[in-house]
Amino acid sequence: MRAEPFDLIEPATYGELLAAARQHAEDGKLIAGGQSLLAMMNLRLVRPAVLVAVGALLDGEIHADAGDLVIPAGTRHAALIRDPLVRRHFPSLADAASHIGNIRVRNRGTIGGSLAHADATGELPCVLAALRGRIVVASLDGEREIAAEKFVISWFTSALEPGEIVREVRIPIRRSPQAFAEFARRTGDFALVEVAVAIERAQDGAGRTARVALGGVGERPEVFDRDVTATPDAVSEAAEAIAAAVDPPDDHRATSAFRRELAAVLVRGAIAKALAGST
Ligand code: FAD
Repeated sequence: MRAEPFDLIEPATYGELLAAARQHAEDGKLIAGGQSLLAMMNLRLVRPAVLVAVGALLDGEIHADAGDLVIPAGTRHAALIRDPLVRRHFPSLADAASHIGNIRVRNRGTIGGSLAHADATGELPCVLAALRGRIVVASLDGEREIAAEKFVISWFTSALEPGEIVREVRIPIRRSPQAFAEFARRTGDFALVEVAVAIERAQDGAGRTARVALGGVGERPEVFDRDVTATPDAVSEAAEAIAAAVDPPDDHRATSAFRRELAAVLVRGAIAKALAGST
């Protein structure tokens, strides 16, 4: 099947991009890497009359600013994997990006497209939730920030309002031991379950909390904060409690019970790996 005919608009400036996003909020779609959108158009799951090409307008250097790492929306998955600042401060993000699809997808797909696509099994919404990332969205009316854990609302539905675009992602830089883990039936498949963990010090300095985000267990990433130093068995207890708290879907790819079991195993392993990297 082929996509229905559409018009293509290629804004020359960031201002023109915002104007086109507003003008075609109802009948159009932005196109970035095209890795999700074109497949959906070919299957006629979406039928935009107009495509607004992001082109290079949302590209830029990944850089530090005011205590955050700033990642422009046009950043490709492949750039996340190799960028020295991402690798130094957020190795779990680089690791998560390396699990996305195949090399062609990673070379074309963007972080902004991945977030706006709002796939509940996407690696990036999950890991950004664990790292307390914020999504900066923009429209002709200005900008606002949305906490990563609130950005995916349900299956393929994000917190973007009509006419808004993802401009950049900001992640607070702090020494936070972290880990990412996922299980997929074959390399390159979407994960059945994925887990991102960041270890945070308790505010009183005593004890450490594991911030755990899971993807593939519901209609959006689920986030849990668990004390992992209270008892010798705290890690196993946290993993069991989190697995019991999620309600994974039952579908042709896996049963709910299997996903729950995967969640327990992956959470336990990821917390242990992150703790091993903490001091
Ligand atoms: P596009 O396809 O261009 O757009 C996707 C959606 O986002 C569209 O609705 C578009 O309008 C919107 N959009 C794009 N940019 C913006 C913006 N800046 N602001 C607002 N809206 C915007 N993803 C995973 O997470 N894990 C996987 O394992 C995985 N495997 C894949 C395997 C294959 C074979 C393929 C084809 C894709 C796979 N993907 C996977 C999806 C991939 O990560 C896509 O790159 C990503 O979901 C979308 O990014 P994109 O830049 O290609 O966006």
